[in-house]
Amino acid sequence: MVGFAYEGSFIMEILRTTAEMARWRDECCRESRTVGFVPTMGYLHQGHLALVKEALRRADRVVVSIFVNPTQFSPGEDLDKYPRDFGRDLDLCRELGVDVIFAPEVEEMYPSGFQTRVLVDHLSQNLCGRYRRDFFSGVTLVVTKLFCAVRPHLAVFGEKDFQQSVVVKRLSKDLNLGVEIIPHPTVRESDGLAMSSRNTYLSKDERQSALALYRSLLAARELVQEGERRVEVLIDRTKAIIEAEAHCKIQYVQVVDEDTMVDIVEVTPKAVMAMAVFVGKARLIDNMRLWSD
Ligand code: AMP
Repeated sequence: MVGFAYEGSFIMEILRTTAEMARWRDECCRESRTVGFVPTMGYLHQGHLALVKEALRRADRVVVSIFVNPTQFSPGEDLDKYPRDFGRDLDLCRELGVDVIFAPEVEEMYPSGFQTRVLVDHLSQNLCGRYRRDFFSGVTLVVTKLFCAVRPHLAVFGEKDFQQSVVVKRLSKDLNLGVEIIPHPTVRESDGLAMSSRNTYLSKDERQSALALYRSLLAARELVQEGERRVEVLIDRTKAIIEAEAHCKIQYVQVVDEDTMVDIVEVTPKAVMAMAVFVGKARLIDNMRLWSD
């Protein structure tokens, strides 16, 4: 266990094992403190930090986990080159007043002989689940393990990964984990690009092309505001905007119901357009609710 003094009295602890985490959590319980949690894979940006601030507003103590979870990457994906900067992450969290960084090693989370799986069925099948074979089984497994280790009252998840936040909400309910899932709106750069650790993979030109994602989502929403309800028309328009850009290769653009993740053909108040696009080597995702009152 490593503690840091900050402005005299504040100590941010860095815990590496579930046993240390359990001891800290028991102490919170004795003191009747509520615990908020923000799971991350590190390389923190303002999107992550907005989640942390939300947790700090809602709970007495806040835990941020930093763990690049190997089980949610398939072979050939970017596990090995996923960006990391643990020292900078610690500084950012300390500045905000985070109480604990939970940063276990892979062997702590998945010791030899590990074989349990957690499956959230239908919600995980569509969108990213169709294209990233191991993604949701890896996410549900690690989130379950992290929730068991941290035992938070609430956890904040970003709507940038909107399908993930819905899947995790279902998971917490189905397994009686008792963790309130707080969704947080997507945080964007000033030009509209959704913040992502993977944006660091983009060259200057690719970053410019990547703006087409947000632009195309806005165009679809504008069509809906003008009265268009046919999803097919919206998707055609969106794809045309993205395909006009160099460097962009669409993996999917779909419109689904925000509760069920099932594709819809007519826009409803629960319609969300979601997309995954390769911009150069970076796979970026983005989404937007299409209905505005
Ligand atoms: P990650 O480190 O990418 O696994 O993300 C950790 C958490 O931060 C997840 O709940 C993400 O949805 C959330 N997150 C990542 N980027 C953003 C963003 N631009 N806006 C809001 N939340 C985000």
